[in-house]
Amino acid sequence: MINEEKSLNFLEEIIEEDIRKGKHGGRVLTRFPPEPNGYLHIGHAKSIVLNFGLAQKYNGKTNLRFDDTNPVTEETEYVDSIKNDIRWLGFQWTEELYTSDYFEILYGYAIKLIKKGLAYVDDSTPEEIAASKGTPTEPGKPTPYRDRSVEENLRLFEAMRDGKFPDGAKVLRAKIDLANPNMHLRDPLLYRIKHAHHHRTGDKWCIYPMYDFAHGQSDSIEQITHSVCTLEFVPHRPLYDWLIEQLEIFPSKQYEFARLNLNYTVMSKRKLLQLVNERHVEGWDDPRMPTISGLRRRGYTPASIRNFCERIGVAKRENIIDVGLLEFCIREDLNKTAWRRMAVLDPVKLVITNYPEGREEILSGENNPEVAGGEGERDIPFGRELWIEREDFMENPPKKFFRLAPGLMVRLKHAYIVKCDDVVKDATGSVIEIHCTYIPESKSGEDTSGLKVKGTIHWVSVAHAKTVEIRLYDRLFNVENPAAEEDFKASINPDSLQIIKSAYVEPDLLNADPGKGYQFIRKGYFTLDTKSPSDKLVFNRTVTLRDTWAKEMQKE
Ligand code: ATP
Ligand code: MG
Repeated sequence: MINEEKSLNFLEEIIEEDIRKGKHGGRVLTRFPPEPNGYLHIGHAKSIVLNFGLAQKYNGKTNLRFDDTNPVTEETEYVDSIKNDIRWLGFQWTEELYTSDYFEILYGYAIKLIKKGLAYVDDSTPEEIAASKGTPTEPGKPTPYRDRSVEENLRLFEAMRDGKFPDGAKVLRAKIDLANPNMHLRDPLLYRIKHAHHHRTGDKWCIYPMYDFAHGQSDSIEQITHSVCTLEFVPHRPLYDWLIEQLEIFPSKQYEFARLNLNYTVMSKRKLLQLVNERHVEGWDDPRMPTISGLRRRGYTPASIRNFCERIGVAKRENIIDVGLLEFCIREDLNKTAWRRMAVLDPVKLVITNYPEGREEILSGENNPEVAGGEGERDIPFGRELWIEREDFMENPPKKFFRLAPGLMVRLKHAYIVKCDDVVKDATGSVIEIHCTYIPESKSGEDTSGLKVKGTIHWVSVAHAKTVEIRLYDRLFNVENPAAEEDFKASINPDSLQIIKSAYVEPDLLNADPGKGYQFIRKGYFTLDTKSPSDKLVFNRTVTLRDTWAKEMQKE
């Protein structure tokens, strides 16, 4: 229903038009084509949701194709992480394919171009080749090798494949037009020599196709109907179309959309790799990273990421999305799904002087008050001594302070109303104990006290508290567009990680499931760190309850 009311994005319009005209027999086949040279990030999620989403909407299919034409930077570890992340996001590809499986076919395409007089082996140095291309305002000039005969080109290209030349000695170039206003058509490189071990083909090849020679042709080999990519490939499209036409192969068509950019974030794999290698973060899955694995470890859910990608829509012009929207999406999801628990991050002791020593009660609280039935209840032990949050007590409070202060009353969540009588201080004058009396008839759920209090605070029983480590995260960069800085690493936020070594949580949290979100009441949404040591649980804060950043900005 909702989908029908939403207007179509430009890609949906194109696909519906193609289906109406019966193009490709109404078939829709998209692909997601990552290069396995790093972990996927939230920008890739945008592309995944788009490609898989379009196919799902039009009863089509989506292939996963690893664009593995560069043997030096690619690794199997990345292949595995990419597959894992796509599945986690909730998508299943139809076929798992590798550009390297097409090396033989691509080689054949190159031979076909040579035979048509449309490609030549060039012995020039990289500098000479760059010079031969001219500049955007000046046409290029042919190198001395441009008019080699078909026979000579065939012989040399075969010798390149046979390993007769060292790296960089020769390249294969398309013979198109050295004066074309589009620089990508000025005799682009098709093949280079690289004596390097490839993660899948091993040492079988010492020549590798350039990205531009492999990418479009791979779409064509797989008969991709709608090849969706980001805007920086617009100027490459005429080359893909030229190759398809000259090679007389399946006419895949490329459509471009604006890549996702997020403020306070860097998104290129190259930059993310630097953060990892130079140890600014713990690894690709550091919870501050915009990678899928980082977001997962931080406590983001697949639904929240899909929802975010759908909300931002598909644009044809570059823009920067506020990372606050991503945070809004996870908050919205966790508010509905997270189980509520109590945790005290900065503890001070509260003693209920009129509660008998040694007595304890098992109180209970709904797991999730957002749904009918509360998804069950958990036991919450209560006793004479409790930990409460230091900021919930003030000795000399301002007006409208609805928490604890001498003479004031507050409700302890799921428990009783208490009144603060007195405090105990250490030699330096700081409060070490807050003494209260409780009102026995004020028990939550069966309150007959008739008292009305404005504030409710969270707590954990001292005798039952479990000690955990809590990690609070802030933005990794403190400027809006770090990628635009001369050195993006200079704008790393030095306070992006705050570690609380000993926080107290209610005992039920020892059973926390990894991957599940918990709302620590009044403190934010948290999840168990998947790399927690077994003797001490670590919880990561996914997001605060409200947008503290936006509030800070308003203050300025
Ligand atoms: P990066 O620049 O971060 O290294 P990439 O484009 O080189 O990314 P690929 O592995 O080639 O990474 O990307 C696979 C697919 O994901 C491509 O189709 C690419 O267009 C898309 N993609 C990459 N980054 C983004 C982004 N920020 N927004 C949307 N799509 C993206
Ligand atoms: Mg790329």
